[in-house]
Amino acid sequence: MNVRELIIAGNWKMHKGLDEAKQFSRKLREALQGKNTGNVIPIVAPAYPFLAVLLREFDDSPVKVAAQDVSVHGDGAFTGEVSANMLASLQLPYCIVGHSERRAYHAESNEIVRKKAMKLMQQGIVPILCIGETLEQRDAGITEKVIKDQLSGCLYQINLYSGKELIIAYEPVWAIGTGRTATGEQAQQVHALIRKWLSVAYHDELAESLCILYGGSVKPENISELLSMPDIDGGLIGGASLDSDSYLKMLDIAQHYDMEHNR
Ligand code: PEP
Repeated sequence: MNVRELIIAGNWKMHKGLDEAKQFSRKLREALQGKNTGNVIPIVAPAYPFLAVLLREFDDSPVKVAAQDVSVHGDGAFTGEVSANMLASLQLPYCIVGHSERRAYHAESNEIVRKKAMKLMQQGIVPILCIGETLEQRDAGITEKVIKDQLSGCLYQINLYSGKELIIAYEPVWAIGTGRTATGEQAQQVHALIRKWLSVAYHDELAESLCILYGGSVKPENISELLSMPDIDGGLIGGASLDSDSYLKMLDIAQHYDMEHNR
């Protein structure tokens, strides 16, 4: 029995209004009614205005809700920002930090991502920490260095105990929204590197229990290959998570995979 769950996390980015969000949640609720997703955790990450709505919609369902970002600041005079404290007041379990789109369009450094992760953890919210190299970095042969720098920068002086306080998502930037997925082997190589880094920086048990997701053009057609890799514990999925049928298909594949392989 694996000590790690399988996670199917849908990142809606800046898509879906209220009606679409509700339609999606109702489809999921109906499809999952009375079902036990076992070791597989379904997560959806809508835009801020719909967090409370979806938390209510999924109240009696196995589906968990995540935010897509959090402020680096605590409560205060920061117009337009949303604090970890506010997310915690919703009893939100997860929040994405360091997504490559935030790093690229909002100049988020590893230090900013670290502060955000800390704010979340202080409130008991599990950060889904995104890291990944660009195409130029991969072509220059520095993927390993980039990943290690991101890990040490984002986790500097962050204490982890059980490994359940954090989820890491490896998302090669060249595979996000491009239709170009890393092969299972390419992804596995980096996931193994991340786990090794965690066992050195923390300890073996922690490294073994921390979930590492893959993200980058994951879809129903390629998710099985990715899940078959020993260090891939699910997906952080953008485009293919927007359609409820496609999302449910990936969830179904993950559940079958989990049962068949007695993870
Ligand atoms: C993402 O949003 O994190 C992502 C991986 O997007 P996509 O699945 O569309 O590549």
